[in-house]
Amino acid sequence: MSPILEIRNVTKKFGGLTANNDISFDVAPGEILSVIGPNGAGKSTLFKQIAGFEKPTTGEVRFKGERISGLAPHRVARLGVVRTFQETTIFRSMTVRENVIVSHHLRSRASLLGYFLGTATARADEAEFARSADEIIDFLGLGAIRDELASNLPQGHLRALGMAIGLATQPQVILLDEPFAGMNHDETMRMVALVRRLRDERGVTVLLVEHDMPAVMKISDRIVCINFGEKIAEGSPAEIQANPRVIEAYLGS
Ligand code: ADP
Ligand code: MG
Repeated sequence: MSPILEIRNVTKKFGGLTANNDISFDVAPGEILSVIGPNGAGKSTLFKQIAGFEKPTTGEVRFKGERISGLAPHRVARLGVVRTFQETTIFRSMTVRENVIVSHHLRSRASLLGYFLGTATARADEAEFARSADEIIDFLGLGAIRDELASNLPQGHLRALGMAIGLATQPQVILLDEPFAGMNHDETMRMVALVRRLRDERGVTVLLVEHDMPAVMKISDRIVCINFGEKIAEGSPAEIQANPRVIEAYLGS
């Protein structure tokens, strides 16, 4: 099967600092692939380049064979590659459901203005999306609070809403940068199950950066390890756990 994403010789420099150095790997459709590495290794920088928030200094990112690196984030998102959790816009004065619906319109081709003005096309699109919106809300366990204002939600529910907003754009590839950060064990396990269902039931390809190693080992099909901006290993969770370079990178940090 051809890869859904190709990371090709990506190098990112910030002045004299090389945050990513000649990183290459492929991601298969429907795969859950984690990128691990010590703090400052360059994981977030890599994700930003995939999602369009940063442009590679050299190298490129391809989605279904087409170059996407260099495109603006909203264009990358429209193609179906969405980074969530960090810098997600949640409208605090809107309900859970309104947030999900607005996010769909913001990133889809349907005009947001049309949605607010209630034009015929927008109404038809809204009706069509309404069921999906409720499905997403239920999927994330937010069903009971769908009409609650976002400003009233506790942190855990806000995180789930952030994910709902990401899913509302109906992504093919979702990039999760430290989604379990600050979660307790139970919350993490619930989220792990959710991410797996996202792949199993919706066929979404998942790229994950996460420090919770037990969670990473449990959820990932494959892992790429980077250290000081360079890819040092790639393989199954078992291969990565036994890799001397990976062990050294973590012990040395
Ligand atoms: P990680 O996510 O693996 O912890 P980052 O990708 O955030 O690492 O950062 C990698 C390196 O690049 C770090 O040294 C960080 O300070 C640097 N860096 C990241 N973004 C910028 C930026 N916008 N300007 C300058 N340096 C940056
Ligand atoms: Mg980071």
